[in-house]
Amino acid sequence: MPTSVATDAPRLEVTNLNRSFGGRKVVDDVSLSVAAGQVTCLLGPSGCGKSTTLRMIAGVEMQDSGKIMVDGELVCDTVTRVPAEARSIGLMFQDFALFPHLTVAGNIAFGLRGSRGQKAERVHHLLKRIGLPHYADAYPHQLSGGEQQRIALARALAPQPKIMLMDEPFSGLDNRLRDDIRDETLEVLKEEGTAVLLVTHEPDEAMRMADEIALMRDGVIVQRGAPYNVHMRPVDKDAAAFFSDLN
Ligand code: ADP
Ligand code: MG
Repeated sequence: MPTSVATDAPRLEVTNLNRSFGGRKVVDDVSLSVAAGQVTCLLGPSGCGKSTTLRMIAGVEMQDSGKIMVDGELVCDTVTRVPAEARSIGLMFQDFALFPHLTVAGNIAFGLRGSRGQKAERVHHLLKRIGLPHYADAYPHQLSGGEQQRIALARALAPQPKIMLMDEPFSGLDNRLRDDIRDETLEVLKEEGTAVLLVTHEPDEAMRMADEIALMRDGVIVQRGAPYNVHMRPVDKDAAAFFSDLN
């Protein structure tokens, strides 16, 4: 791959992405971008097309049309298609399923290349960073939900992806834990400088974590902006209603 020339290009740039299932458009001309070190939230009610959008960016679902650029490089349009594993994209989902037969260190090192020593160093750094320095030899079933979540974050970040795609990653956690894990996750992501596209149907999560919100409805991005602006100046009644549970 040629090295990127457009250093000030957004880390992720999606242009006019479309996808239909059985004649029904579920992603309708979606454009969005994420800068390095920024969190963009794709926010909208269940079924509006968020996961489909994310899956196309990840490269596990094909778009009908549209263009996806990572760090100034074309990774997908109707002609070019860089495979998922070559896109420098990290993934986190609600069902983040660590490998049960691997230790914590084994899970984090799974996608890493390099010498044994380099891998061990990266694993150690990440374990320390997520506050679990002594867990290298533990197995996933020995950990709490919150701990597993943090390990999943470390695993996704280990290969230093340019972009992190997160699909409702906190929805499996109980309320008491969730805000803490959100804050910790955000801190680690900011420190790593990763560009994040976070999918959620919860306005409070978007308000807490996003630098920018892209509000989605019926496959369409109806509004983009800073969280405060999207919340306080909703584009229409439906957008206002969607935020109405927030105070
Ligand atoms: P969200 O993540 O916002 O809840 P999704 O992207 O999962 O929404 O789904 C958007 C719409 O597309 C839904 O109506 C869903 O049923 C439909 N859909 C998603 N994947 C498929 C598929 N593989 N085949 C048919 N319909 C699908
Ligand atoms: Mg979804």
